[in-house]
Amino acid sequence: MVAGSVGAGDSFGGYRAQLVETLRGKGVRDLAVLHAVQQVPRHLFIPQAVRHRAYEDSALPIGAGQTISQPYVQARSIELARLGGHERVLEIGTGSGYQTALLSLVAESVFSVERVPALAQQAREALQSLGLRNVTVLVGDGTLGWRPFAPYDAILVAAASPNVPEPLVDQLAPGGRLIIPLGSRESQELTLVRRTADGIQTSVVADVRFVPLLGEFGFRGS
Ligand code: SAH
Repeated sequence: MVAGSVGAGDSFGGYRAQLVETLRGKGVRDLAVLHAVQQVPRHLFIPQAVRHRAYEDSALPIGAGQTISQPYVQARSIELARLGGHERVLEIGTGSGYQTALLSLVAESVFSVERVPALAQQAREALQSLGLRNVTVLVGDGTLGWRPFAPYDAILVAAASPNVPEPLVDQLAPGGRLIIPLGSRESQELTLVRRTADGIQTSVVADVRFVPLLGEFGFRGS
């Protein structure tokens, strides 16, 4: 854990504090998550052209037709995972790597799968530049999960899926929590799936809009 040091020394701390207040105002309560937002320099994960908007609570383009999600949705998703610092987390859809960085500060280890190699490489570089060492970025079809490091205490999917990919449920530890936007390509419901002793429990959290999860157990095509 490197909490307290990743964003130290830059001049954006005031902007991050404002973003933290915005998230608090929208109902994010988990102090570890809010602390992570205060620490992680989001502007380092965003292309130069839109960098001036880095601390707005909005989604932004990151290249390859993809977007970095809205900070509120990311903070809420991580909060739903109820991480206490000792969990092994799988993230599907690394994108910019920003949410990966947030996760690295609130979990023990993070495995993140991205299908676009160029995005994975950029994310790796940004994460390394911050000295985050409990993170592994992998290239592949995240709808298959990542079996070698399973089971996971939490799985966060950062792209929209028509249904819950079966391999992800299989790779969830007992008591584990899976957060995934489910629906059509146009609109989805952020959904919490829990693996309990009685089976799988599902609850809908909020209406959201994500880019599609493309792969064997997601949307087919491009
Ligand atoms: N959490 C990211 C959001 C990225 S958008 C961020 O903070 O920037 C969703 C990402 O999911 C895109 O980068 C997209 O390429 C990726 N993606 C889509 N389908 C995927 C799949 N089957 N496996 C892994 N990544 C996938």
